[in-house]
Amino acid sequence: MSSSNQVVALVTGANKGIGFAIARDLCRKFSGDVVLTARNQARGRAAVQQLQAEGLSPRFHQLDIDDLQSIRALRDFLLKEYGGLDVLINNAGIGTDPTQFHIQAEAAMKTNFLGTRAVCMELLPLIKPQGRVVNVSSTMSLDALKNCSPELQQKFRSDTITEEELVGLMNKFVEDTKKGMHEKEGWPNSAYGVSKIGVTVLSRIHARKLSQQRRDDKILLNACCPGWVRTDMAGPKATKSPEEGAETPVYLALLPPDAEGPHGQFVQEKKVEQW
Ligand code: NAP
Repeated sequence: MSSSNQVVALVTGANKGIGFAIARDLCRKFSGDVVLTARNQARGRAAVQQLQAEGLSPRFHQLDIDDLQSIRALRDFLLKEYGGLDVLINNAGIGTDPTQFHIQAEAAMKTNFLGTRAVCMELLPLIKPQGRVVNVSSTMSLDALKNCSPELQQKFRSDTITEEELVGLMNKFVEDTKKGMHEKEGWPNSAYGVSKIGVTVLSRIHARKLSQQRRDDKILLNACCPGWVRTDMAGPKATKSPEEGAETPVYLALLPPDAEGPHGQFVQEKKVEQW
């Protein structure tokens, strides 16, 4: 049954870690449906059951951000059930392991940048007026930016860089790592960091496009860092609990309807950071 007057928030990679904590907090604070998504059905449904046991009522939908068919099935579900989407939190991502650098680079780029971009391509057109979009990037994107050559830094900070140029640069990074010449070409030594530069710059580009093409809709889109959070990705020594890590993403997701900003920013501890 269609309930297109119903508002809906969706979190990617929400079966564990920060995404799970975001979904839980939204279930408590967001006045609408919350869709918890996960690439693995069993892990996702187990997470939903855990929240149900706490008296919360998320819905579940499968989503693998590396799989266009999966993204499109989710898009069709959202259109049918809700006529669009009010809040999108792009949280799903992968860390890197100590395999060869070019393999890390390809994997991090595939999920963190290309996967997030694919979700945005399919779901941003569904975002309703006064919608909120939050892309979970990382402060490592800022560190990696500072370790890029001056030419690359200038491109990534540019207010006129296009999405196509960004994709070209991200692909070039992976190709340069395969040729063993990424340092010579001005790239830093963090595959994860470069993939998150992609997420932050993509957010700036998408925010700019929304301001140009849908100004009256007052949609706010930002990138953020959750902090250093105790999850499977960051390990037990990290300083924040997943609940604390969820605070900034949830703050951005629930910016009040009359808020004028932040928009197109990189936000950490609920504060705008200079990119
Ligand atoms: P995590 O516990 O490893 O959780 C990552 C989540 O992303 C899992 O649900 C995972 O699903 C999902 N995921 C991975 N690839 C996916 C795909 N192709 N499609 C859909 N879901 C996918 O890590 P976390 O620390 O919570 O990280 C969440 C986000 O915060 C990431 O974007 C990460 O880069 C960012 N971040 C984390 C920290 C930190 O200190 N933890 C710091 C800065 C930024 P599976 O369970 O199926 O693998």
